[in-house]
Amino acid sequence: MKTSCGTVTREREQGNRRQLPDWADQFNDLMIDFWCGEMLWNISMADFSSYRVGGPAEAVIFPLGINELALLIQGLRKLDINWLVLGRGTNILVADEGLKGVVIILGRDFCSIDQTHQDAGFELVRVKGGCAMARLVNWCTDQELSGLEFAAGIPGSVGGATAMNAGAWGGQISDVLHSAIIMDSKGILHSKAGEDMNLGYRNWNEPAEMIAVETTFKLKKGEKSAIAEKCRANVSLRKKQQPMNVISCGSFFKNPAPDKPAGRLIEEAGLKGFKIGNVMVSDKHANFIINTGGATAADIVGLMRHVQNRVWRHCGIRLEPEVHLLGFTDL
Ligand SMILES: Cc1cc2nc3c(=O)[nH]c(=O)nc-3n(C[C@H](O)[C@H](O)[C@H](O)COP(=O)(O)OP(=O)(O)OC[C@H]3O[C@@H](n4cnc5c(N)ncnc54)[C@H](O)[C@@H]3O)c2cc1C
Repeated sequence: MKTSCGTVTREREQGNRRQLPDWADQFNDLMIDFWCGEMLWNISMADFSSYRVGGPAEAVIFPLGINELALLIQGLRKLDINWLVLGRGTNILVADEGLKGVVIILGRDFCSIDQTHQDAGFELVRVKGGCAMARLVNWCTDQELSGLEFAAGIPGSVGGATAMNAGAWGGQISDVLHSAIIMDSKGILHSKAGEDMNLGYRNWNEPAEMIAVETTFKLKKGEKSAIAEKCRANVSLRKKQQPMNVISCGSFFKNPAPDKPAGRLIEEAGLKGFKIGNVMVSDKHANFIINTGGATAADIVGLMRHVQNRVWRHCGIRLEPEVHLLGFTDL
């Protein structure tokens, strides 16, 4: 399949058969005049999720920049094709049946970091949603900007961190959020002040079809060595308390209350190190559900349910997943 820029759309095949969704031709006709980005058809979501499970998405599309993203969203709306945006897939669990419609991943021009100006004593840093959080944390250290040290070691993108209100060690994105630019389901951009963003605990209270295309952080000038040391300390704490080099999405469940961490409740329910097939509750930190290799999404959901039931029976608390479950019709 050709795009207008002459690049051939890559199609990784499931088995030997090329399978395009029934909307593919219509979609291609609509996009052909402007499209320069990459599209992958019928592609395993295991390649885009740190859990390394999940069936195929009908298409994964990487718009290069804002204009292309807006045209894409408008085109998808016109053809009534479902879509969702992903960052680096470090907090998602995709069903084995896969995903209908289009997965959008912010492409090449969504990676910039710019220090803009000062506001009320803060240094403002504007970052595009596709930038890796790790890159931003390193950049801030180099620029002697303090505030994001809590995020050292959190994988994923800035857009994903904004949508998840990611956090660790008592800090979270909303603490340092100045404002954000959001694209809505019509492809229209909105600028929102941090306090109007509706970020909750690991949650963004907005309709699903909203894209965080740019986040501006409010940071303070600091000393490079102190910032670097704080980042190092946070990463070593992580290494000490959490399983490293395993296949997971980090903490699986939200903490039901600050004094009731999910990991402790799971441990008290007797499930630390508990294993079913290729999925286990970490024996280092009980809020990590690990794919030990070869697990399916159904296996992970099976252990998730088991943990929820056991904790419920043990202390009457229903654990809610922090990991976003995508494409499951029976949950
Ligand atoms: C080893 C490990 C450790 C982790 N430690 C932490 C931790 O300490 N603290 C923490 O909070 N999290 C942690 N996580 C979870 C995860 O890294 C964070 O939630 C991260 O911010 C998700 O970013 P992402 O780009 O991977 O998002 P994805 O997983 O791709 O997406 C997560 C959700 O955000 C939505 N989304 C993604 N990008 C956008 C966007 N631009 N606009 C709108 N919505 C979007 C997606 O639709 C999805 O619903 C950890 C994960 C791993 C694997």
